[in-house]
Amino acid sequence: MNLEELRRINARCIHCRACQYAYSDEPDREGMDETYTGMMQGCPAGLYYGWEGYFNSGKQWMARAFLNGELEASKEFLEVVEACTTCGMCETQCPNYIDTVHVTEALRAAIIEAGVEPLSKHKGMGDRVAIEDMRNPYGEPREERIKWLGENKDVVDKPDTKIAYYVGCTAAYRQQQISEHTFSILKKLGVDFTVLSDEVCCGSPILRTGQRDGFKVVMKKNLELFKDFDLVLFSCAGCYKTFRNDYPEHSGEPLPFKVRHAVEYAYDLIQEGKLPIKGSYNKKVTWHDPCHSIRHVGIAIEKEILSKSKNWLHDSRAADKAKQEHYELPRIVLSHIPGLEQVEMYRNRGDSFCCGAGGGVKAQFPDMALFASKERLKEAAATGAEVLMTSCPFCVTNFNDGINALKKEEEETGKDLSDQGSKLVVVELLELLDELM
Ligand code: SF4
Ligand code: SF4
Repeated sequence: MNLEELRRINARCIHCRACQYAYSDEPDREGMDETYTGMMQGCPAGLYYGWEGYFNSGKQWMARAFLNGELEASKEFLEVVEACTTCGMCETQCPNYIDTVHVTEALRAAIIEAGVEPLSKHKGMGDRVAIEDMRNPYGEPREERIKWLGENKDVVDKPDTKIAYYVGCTAAYRQQQISEHTFSILKKLGVDFTVLSDEVCCGSPILRTGQRDGFKVVMKKNLELFKDFDLVLFSCAGCYKTFRNDYPEHSGEPLPFKVRHAVEYAYDLIQEGKLPIKGSYNKKVTWHDPCHSIRHVGIAIEKEILSKSKNWLHDSRAADKAKQEHYELPRIVLSHIPGLEQVEMYRNRGDSFCCGAGGGVKAQFPDMALFASKERLKEAAATGAEVLMTSCPFCVTNFNDGINALKKEEEETGKDLSDQGSKLVVVELLELLDELM
């Protein structure tokens, strides 16, 4: 939807600012610092910049002012609106069910459509995705997209299989260990699947940053490529959310295939008694919910139920229950691993604090991304866990960047920053599953 189409939704904002706070069901828990009081400010942008305009509550009002012609499109305006990870924490909290991230993304697009250039790093990503020989935000050659497969080219472009693995740009070019572990897991399970040599960027980085024309081009290409499959699997939280939530909305059609993130697929296999775990993992682990595959999908499940409801009050409970069940999936997978002890962070599930990398922030506002990473690491360290586990390439990178910054600070100052998370080890769940299978 464009901003004009979201006018009525945006008009529901009463500027109550409830969306600034994340809640915890453990209000008396001690740790981290004195801010543990049952609810904490949970917006990475608002916390970092400390000004109302960066919180969602401010953005909703700026969107309204823009719609009413009271605020003009400008580079400065776009810079404020782009400094948001689109994490959806605010959307979870809003008592008026405002689609906050939709409004923010539509506002970005509207400012750009009004003639303002995308911000430099975002424009670079958009330009590279637009080049036919690249079609990825990293500017890598398109013909090298399946290079990570090495000798395993037998899975490429198989004509008769009904299951496809959509690799995504980050696992194809930057974090090949994620695609390699996913490939290995599927092989160990004996799944008949294929990887398409012609897949292109899902479009997430350019959709989030307001570059909708380019997004529509890659969305159409992917929908055409995958239309005859029964199931498409994902190892990237961002790609998954984009296919699952954004493609139906922007194409106006339901997806012609089923989609599952690899963690959900592991959950499905556990339910069927088909996930063979051979070893054990005797470590204390805290799970970080990736915003894209957990919170955004949970919110979408809830809203999909409510959109069909004839008795909204009655169905809102069932919708919330379905959302909460989605938040449990990774926890059920972890509980299936012998020896693994789970401890929750203060803000978890829908209330999770973002890693700081999403929405184009990591590229354009690296200091804010690092701030958010450190904030979350501090929260993880307060649980006493030795491992911070997640399943998203961007979360893994940004947490590792945070830990490296803490280690550097330790070296320079001689201080022990283990209470800030300097000793945490970040583990991608797919890597662990592959090792234990
Ligand atoms: S978006 Fe929702 S929670 Fe946030 S200020 Fe507006 S009405 Fe309140
Ligand atoms: S989406 Fe996340 S970063 Fe953006 S305003 Fe909402 S809580 Fe803040």
